[in-house]
Amino acid sequence: MSAWYTYEDRLKDHYLAYQLLKRKLRPTFVKAHIKTISQHELKAMYYAIHFHGPSNGQLPLAKTIPASRESFLYLTLFLSIYQITSKVNPQSRMDVPAILFTWDYFHRSYEHLIPEERPYGKIRPANFNEAWVLAQGMREGQVVLKYCPRCRHNYAVFYESKFRPVCQFCELADANVNSFRPNTP
Ligand SMILES: [Zn+2]
Repeated sequence: MSAWYTYEDRLKDHYLAYQLLKRKLRPTFVKAHIKTISQHELKAMYYAIHFHGPSNGQLPLAKTIPASRESFLYLTLFLSIYQITSKVNPQSRMDVPAILFTWDYFHRSYEHLIPEERPYGKIRPANFNEAWVLAQGMREGQVVLKYCPRCRHNYAVFYESKFRPVCQFCELADANVNSFRPNTP
């Protein structure tokens, strides 16, 4: 396969791999996206950049990313920026430059609030791997942005997650109202 790639193509792939690995994207994800570089070489690149190997833990799944109802505020922000900046239809393809832009912006906004290691808090995506998995989930239809006519905001739906596919902002508002309602006999 690689015989048909020009030197310039390979250089572009290496630069993209560097951009992804620098943000600690797992080589398995990079390999699925960039075919011209071997998994072995990607791991070597990761090590050269970070002076340690990639994590061996389980790859994140879209459905387990929302930690609490409050997480949906951040997830909706992330997905909205990604959708707006994406130059392709994010329901059919992943736009890698848009993922990079959205993650960098998001991470800069919450840099001191996102712990790099577990335990993760309510601010999600907590790292670039989660950001990648969100974009994948959007492409595969597991993660969807919908419009809520009641609060007039977009809200995120994570199918197969523990959260019902409804507007979590309205759910949260209702839950707060109910918790303050005095008990009437
Ligand atoms: Zn709503």
